Amino acid sequence: MPTARCAFCTATPLRELAVSSWTTDPEDRSRLTILLCGKHMVRVQKAGPKGYAHGEEKFKAGFW
Ligand SMILES: [Zn+2]
Repeated sequence: MPTARCAFCTATPLRELAVSSWTTDPEDRSRLTILLCGKHMVRVQKAGPKGYAHGEEKFKAGFW
């Protein structure tokens, strides 16, 4: 069984979160669910509509 880890770090994930992700245009986003640790869960949720930046991509909680 593969070891699950947070999408943004090597920590053990706390839970799965439904997110929208995009690179430059927030209208051109994909919807997916990712595993997040407690720390990154908070960061994504606090980032709000501007999104949490990870490399080229941005992520925000929820599909809309
Ligand atoms: Zn993490």
